[in-house]
Amino acid sequence: LLLRVEMRHVLEAKKRLDGLVRETPFINSPVLSEKMGASVYLKLENMHPIGAFKIRGAANKMLSLTEYEKKRGVTTFSTGNHGLAVAYVAKHIGIKAVICISNRVPDAKVERIQSLGAEIKKVGNSQDEAESYAYQLEKDYGLTVIKPFDDPYVIAGQGTIALEMMGHVPYLDTVIVQVSGGGLFSGIGLVLKHYNPNIRLIGVAMENSAVMYKSLQVNHPVVLEEKETLADSLLGGIGLHNEYTFSMVKQYIDDFILVSEAEIKEGMAFIADQHRFIVEGAAATGVAAILSNKLKIKGSHIGTVITGNNVDTAVITKILQEWIHA
Ligand SMILES: *Cc1c(COP(=O)(O)O)cnc(C)c1O
Repeated sequence: LLLRVEMRHVLEAKKRLDGLVRETPFINSPVLSEKMGASVYLKLENMHPIGAFKIRGAANKMLSLTEYEKKRGVTTFSTGNHGLAVAYVAKHIGIKAVICISNRVPDAKVERIQSLGAEIKKVGNSQDEAESYAYQLEKDYGLTVIKPFDDPYVIAGQGTIALEMMGHVPYLDTVIVQVSGGGLFSGIGLVLKHYNPNIRLIGVAMENSAVMYKSLQVNHPVVLEEKETLADSLLGGIGLHNEYTFSMVKQYIDDFILVSEAEIKEGMAFIADQHRFIVEGAAATGVAAILSNKLKIKGSHIGTVITGNNVDTAVITKILQEWIHA
């Protein structure tokens, strides 16, 4: 059991991930650089086989299990990128994965997870019921629950993104990172502040249901009603009994920017038009923050993460059509 995530855990994660998780490009964006009068870089986490960075945390956690735990298998309760990551890693290391979902999850999402070979267990009508069921499987059958963010191994796995960023652009002075449960931000914050305590770390989320933002304001985890958003991968609570990410985000964050749905659309369209990538709403929030002029302090070397590409073709098509006619 790890009580604290440290730099050496991220270095260990980097070694562990070798062979399963490829290093991703950290490219310069000429247009954003021009706009900001600074060098702006994009970390392309949309390029993983499952289309999102979550593969790093899930792989680090699952590869760290004991042989006994691996034999029993794993379970989780996410239908988004974390569920895909757990299914993908389980297949590649040859262990059983059971993804618990509610009856309300659309078939398209279920099929993607099933096509990776994971077993689907449908229970109840809410995400909460699916989560309880995963913990029941842990209790009854010894499956290990792979948490989406509040786990030291998951945080350390996400931190490997920052090792790669520093390897390519060591002079980064401002980095904008998406915040939902905070695993991504915690891992990146740990590494970047270790190398350079003066680096500015800016959290970004959507205006609709920014749970970590609100929790930091009142200084304890809160629950918010989920509103419709294009950044659906940033929805979900941080857990009322949050153990790691709330305090880590609080420690490392210098500023927090919220972006509107219109700004997220603009970010998605900009990335498609300028960089030729289809990305999901959550992934575009960092670029949206840059385009919105909401960054108060502008550094000379700015980085942000393109976190994933799991967006419905119909959704991105509509956004691009509206954008070219605007
Ligand atoms: C999970 C996720 C995030 C946020 O990561 P947290 O660790 O939950 O803060 C951002 N973007 C995408 C695409 C994700 O899947």
